[in-house]
Amino acid sequence: MLYPQEFDVIVVGGGHAGTEAALAAARMGSKTLLLSHNIETLGQMSCNPSIGGIGKGHLVKEVDAMGGAMALATDESGIQFRILNSSKGPAVRATRAQADRVLYKAAIRRMLENQPNLWLFQQAVDDLMVEGDGDGARVVGAVTQVGIQFRGKTVVLTAGTFLDGKIHVGLNNYAAGRAGDPPAVSLSARLKELKLPQGRLKTGTPPRIDGRSIDFSKCIEQPGDGVAGGMSDVMPVVSFMGNTAMHPQQVPCWITHTNERTHDIIRSGFDRSPMFTGKIEGVGPRYCPSVEDKINRFADKDSHQIFLEPEGLTTHEYYPNGISTSLPFDIQYELVRSIASLENAHILRPGYAIEYDYFDPRSLKSSFETRQIGGLFFAGQINGTTGYEEAAAQGMFAGINAALQVRAMGGGNVALSAAGAASYTGSSWLPGRDQAYLGVLVDDLITKGVTEPYRMFTSRAEFRLQLREDNADARLTEVGRELGLVDNARWDAFCRKRDAVSRETERLRSIWVNPRNLAADESERVLGKSIEHEYNLADLLRRPNVSYGGLMSLDHGKYANRDLLDTVSRETAGLPATDLAEVAFVAAVVEQVEIAAKYSGYIDRQKDEVERAAHYENLRLPEDLDYMQVTALSIEARQRLSKFKPETLGQASRLSGITPATISLLMIHLRKGN
Ligand code: FAD
Repeated sequence: MLYPQEFDVIVVGGGHAGTEAALAAARMGSKTLLLSHNIETLGQMSCNPSIGGIGKGHLVKEVDAMGGAMALATDESGIQFRILNSSKGPAVRATRAQADRVLYKAAIRRMLENQPNLWLFQQAVDDLMVEGDGDGARVVGAVTQVGIQFRGKTVVLTAGTFLDGKIHVGLNNYAAGRAGDPPAVSLSARLKELKLPQGRLKTGTPPRIDGRSIDFSKCIEQPGDGVAGGMSDVMPVVSFMGNTAMHPQQVPCWITHTNERTHDIIRSGFDRSPMFTGKIEGVGPRYCPSVEDKINRFADKDSHQIFLEPEGLTTHEYYPNGISTSLPFDIQYELVRSIASLENAHILRPGYAIEYDYFDPRSLKSSFETRQIGGLFFAGQINGTTGYEEAAAQGMFAGINAALQVRAMGGGNVALSAAGAASYTGSSWLPGRDQAYLGVLVDDLITKGVTEPYRMFTSRAEFRLQLREDNADARLTEVGRELGLVDNARWDAFCRKRDAVSRETERLRSIWVNPRNLAADESERVLGKSIEHEYNLADLLRRPNVSYGGLMSLDHGKYANRDLLDTVSRETAGLPATDLAEVAFVAAVVEQVEIAAKYSGYIDRQKDEVERAAHYENLRLPEDLDYMQVTALSIEARQRLSKFKPETLGQASRLSGITPATISLLMIHLRKGN
C-alpha cells in the first residue's frame, strides 16, 4: 500500500539520533515522519543510563543550545548529577547525569508526541525506495515490513546497532538489534545491494545486578553534587532551559573493585571468549573496553574500579559500570560474585557484545547526505560512532540538513547572520571546528573515517578553549534561531543572558579603580597586592587570583552591580523556590563575565588563528575537479582526493595521507585556474 501522504523528511529509527533528527526537522517546519520498530522504545538507552561526561557533555549542551531534547529529558530524569573535572579549567569541565531510564524515555516520548509537524509510526523498515541510478540516484521513500510505502523527499537513516546485528554471549550468538529487540536484516541487505561502503563494529554491555543482592556496606558511596556529601553544594542543571526543580529524587552511585580472583576467573574464560576466539569480527571501542579486554591488555593491573549505578527510582536494577563482557554466562556469574559487595549478587540480565554494520562516514557529504544516493542521510551509530550524545548531535545535524535540503528544493532559503552564514551553503549547514564539538565530530568522521567506534573527547577539539559547555548557548543559539530550531521562550531567555553579560562586561570596563581611593588592606585582600596606577575592573578581573565576587566586595560593595547583587543577597536570606532560577541566572552571567576576562588572552589568540586559517579552511574545491589530472600531486594523493572528494581545502588537509605539501600544490593548481 502507498501511504496517502508524502513527507518532507522520513526518519528511520527512534534512538537518540532518530529522535533528535525528527524533532529538529519538525521544528524547522518540515512535515516529518519518525518510523521505528517500536514506539515503546523511542529514546531507549541501550546501555548504561547516563548522559554526558567529558566531551559528551559538551555535545549535549550544544544540542540543547539549538533546541534539542536530550538535555531537558536528562534534567527531568536525572537521579544523580555531577560536574566532572570541576577543579580544572572551564574548557574541560563537563556535566554528567545518571538517568532513570524509564523517566528519560517518557520525557523523550512526550516531547515527540507534542511536537507539531511530527508523525510517529511503528513498523520495521525493510527497504528504501530509490529512483534513478548512477549519479542521479535519489531516495524517494521507505517501505515497511508489511509493505507500506511511505514517500518522502528525504530519508534520515539512524538504525543504530540494528543493521545485521548479532549478539554474542560466549560462543553462542543470535541475531538481534540489542537484547530484546529484532535486528534489521532486510534493510542491511538492501544497503549492501546499494553498494554503500560498510564494515562491522562491535560494542558490549555488562550483566545487570539486582540491587537487593548487593552488599552496599562494602562499597564506597558516591553522592552527586548538590546533595549531602557531594563534591559541590551546587546541584548541576543540564539544559539552558532546565532548573533543579525538574530533577527527581537524587540517589547515590557506589564504588567497588575487581580483584586478582576476578581476573583469574576472567582469564579462565578466554578460550570461550567470542573476542579472543575470532567469533567477533567487528572492532570494539578502545576507550570503553570489555573487562576481558582490560585484563588482557593491562595484565599488570591487579584491580579495576567498578561503579554500581542505579538504573532508576522504580527498579532494583543496577548497572555495574566497568565489567562489560561477552564471556560465557558461567564465567560472568563467577566473575560478578568474586567482587566485594557482589558475593551474593543475582544477575538480572547477562552481559553481551553486539556486532553490527556501520557505513564508512568518509562516503558522506559534509551534510551527512550519502554521496551515492541523493536525499539519503545517515546519522548516529550507523556512522561508526558510539554513545548517545554523539548519536543525538549527529541526529540533530542530519535532521537540520534534510530539512534545509527540502527547503532549498522549494526555493526556500535561510537568511543567516554573518556568524551563521559562514557555515551555511544554501542547502546545508555545517558548524566549523572552532564553533562546536558538533563541527569537530562531523569533520573528523567525514575526513578521517573510523577504525573503531568513535567517541568524543575534549582532546579532539583544537579550539577547545572556546568550545566550552558554559558557552554552548553563545555559540549556537543564534544560528539555531535563524535556522528555525529555537522557540520564543528559549530565545527570550538567551537574549536576556547575552545582554546581561554584555552590559556587565561593559560596566566593568567603564569603572576605574584609583589606588588613592583604595585602602591598602582592601587591596591586599582582594587583589593580593596594592596597585600602582588606575585600572578598570575588567583589567583587574583578568588577574589570576582576582575573583568577580572579590571585586564586588571592594570598598563595602562600592562597585557591585545592584541588580545582580540584590538577587544573590536574597539567596542567603533564604529564597522562595521560584527565585532560585534568578540565582542560577546571575551565577551564569557572572561565570561568563569571569571566564571571558580570565581567558581573554588565550581566546583572542585562538580567534586570530581561526581567522588566519579561515580563507584556506573554507576555500571550496570544485565538485568536478579531476584530481587524476593534477599531475603535480603524488598518485596516492590523487587517488585519495578522487575517492573522498573533500568539499573544502580544510577538509582535504585532514584526510589521512594528505600532507601540507599536497595542500600547497593544490592551492597553486587552484590559483592557476587549471
Ligand atoms: P540506537 O539507539 O541503537 O537506536 C536505533 C533505533 O532504530 C532503535 O529505535 C531501533 O528500533 C530503530 N531501528 C533500527 N533499524 C530499524 C528499522 N529497519 N526499521 C525501524 N526502526 C529501526 N554507548 C556508549 O557511549 N557507551 C557504552 O558503553 C555503550 N555500550 C553499548 C552496549 C550495547 C549492547 C549497545 C547496543 C549499545 C551501546 N552503546 C554504548 C551505544 C549506544 O547505545 C549507541 O551509541 C546509541 O544508542 C546510538 O544511538 P542511535 O540513535 O544511533 O541508535
